Amino acid sequence: MTQLTNAQPGLEATFSGELIASGHPDYDDARGLYNGMFDKRPRLIARCTSAIDVQAALAYARERNLIVAVRGGGHSTPGHSSCDGGIVIDTGPMKSVAIDAERHTGRFGAGLTWGELDAATQEHGLAVTGGRVTHTGIAGLTLGSGSGWLERKYGPTCANLISAEVVTADGRILRASADQNADLLWGLKGAGGNFGVVTEFEYRLHPVGPILYAGMVLHPRGVATDLARCYRDFMADAPDEIGGGLALLTAPPEEFVPAEARGKPACALIVIYLGDPRQGEEALRPLLEWGEPWVKMVQPMPYAAVQGMIDAGHPWGISEYAKMDYLRELPDEAIDAMAERAAEASSPFTKIYLCPLGGAVSRMDRHAMALGIPDTPWMYFCLAEWWDPTMKAPEIAWARAFMTAMRPWSVDQAPANFIEPDEGIGRLRASYGDEKFKRLVALKDKYDPENVFSLNPNIPPSQDDNPRNKQHARPTTNTEHES
Ligand SMILES: Cc1cc2nc3c(=O)[nH]c(=O)nc-3n(C[C@H](O)[C@H](O)[C@H](O)COP(=O)(O)OP(=O)(O)OC[C@H]3O[C@@H](n4cnc5c(N)ncnc54)[C@H](O)[C@@H]3O)c2cc1C
Repeated sequence: MTQLTNAQPGLEATFSGELIASGHPDYDDARGLYNGMFDKRPRLIARCTSAIDVQAALAYARERNLIVAVRGGGHSTPGHSSCDGGIVIDTGPMKSVAIDAERHTGRFGAGLTWGELDAATQEHGLAVTGGRVTHTGIAGLTLGSGSGWLERKYGPTCANLISAEVVTADGRILRASADQNADLLWGLKGAGGNFGVVTEFEYRLHPVGPILYAGMVLHPRGVATDLARCYRDFMADAPDEIGGGLALLTAPPEEFVPAEARGKPACALIVIYLGDPRQGEEALRPLLEWGEPWVKMVQPMPYAAVQGMIDAGHPWGISEYAKMDYLRELPDEAIDAMAERAAEASSPFTKIYLCPLGGAVSRMDRHAMALGIPDTPWMYFCLAEWWDPTMKAPEIAWARAFMTAMRPWSVDQAPANFIEPDEGIGRLRASYGDEKFKRLVALKDKYDPENVFSLNPNIPPSQDDNPRNKQHARPTTNTEHES
């Protein structure tokens, strides 16, 4: 039911979701983002239940020339999914699920999280590559690429996007598919929310689980470089069925960790085998028998549990600054540099994930999507995270230094979701490549020439004279809107 504390003339009549403005009892919850670094105060949060609601909210915003933020699961690292003084078009309430188990396809409301989507698809023993943290939204993750534990077998999420329902800047409701508005579908696969508000995603689904051989082995950090070498050599010939990664982190204060290890620098090997669990045990044996770990928790487990495996390390409200890049090779020097830099982080919540690529990611048709993704064997995610605000400046500086240290082996490309605003349009453009970037600008001119959707890794239209965007869409230094 529409509920307002401030008058929003014209919107109540046509809107069937909830409208939340300052003073509403849910205002603080509704405006909160995963990344606690941001504390933005929108004029209105429109919690949309349908494409019709999105149309109404967009029309309302355009009539008043309000800045527009679009929200799915609220996980945007640079805090793009909220704004000060503008409108948040929140697709969170859209949770529809329609699975065609025979055709291995499914249509999903844009407000689902990965935990919710996985729960629904697993009822049919199916899945699509999803985020590694269950409370991440399917919307932002898909639109910005979608890297997950299944990608070596099934490619990134956006490669599995068959169609989408989109409300464009001018309020049209379009289907983007191979047959209709195919250019739009191409752009949605990796160019974020630049062209409209997606209300529904249709994915190709794959047989996965429901039981997989998977888990985590926790070693002391002292062996990180040797373990990473072993992992690199093992993955060089590994079948596509093996997914996972190596994390450099702090051993959590959890019961499963021996008391003497808690709070100590550690490295965690995360392993997943897509297939018969008995074959998985055999295939992963060389990794699992390596060294003398503190903890070995690898066993047959439900895929849904695998997907929640690192949730505890990513609590809602923590502050985060991320760097990500692909590694064209992983020589010993790169491993050493990674371990040396990891040891210099000061926050116990900061972590680095080193993830193998190859497999389906190597083979996929790169022309079929906007995403610029090189064919490399490895990538890293450098996630500076902290609760203590005094750690903000040192952790951000540390993450930047980490990226610099890895430059000799990286390709200087990242999916849009992992490009921080302070990296500027140069890195965004380089990540798509000149040809795709030009095509994206042409798409922006076609679907959003006035840059209504500017709060994202923004593809600028050829002409954007709107002062609203000059004020809001400039690169920031990640110090704005600090909480
Ligand atoms: C803890 C954590 C774990 C992560 N793990 C992974 C991972 O494993 N793999 C990976 O690839 N990425 C991962 N990410 C990055 C993540 O994919 C992006 O932050 C993504 O944007 C989050 O999607 P969301 O819907 O939750 O975000 P939101 O903050 O809601 O949205 C982010 C942006 O997406 C766009 N958007 C959102 N909803 C819509 C919509 N309905 N229509 C049009 N545009 C929309 C908007 O531009 C918005 O600013 C992770 C991030 C975090 C914080």
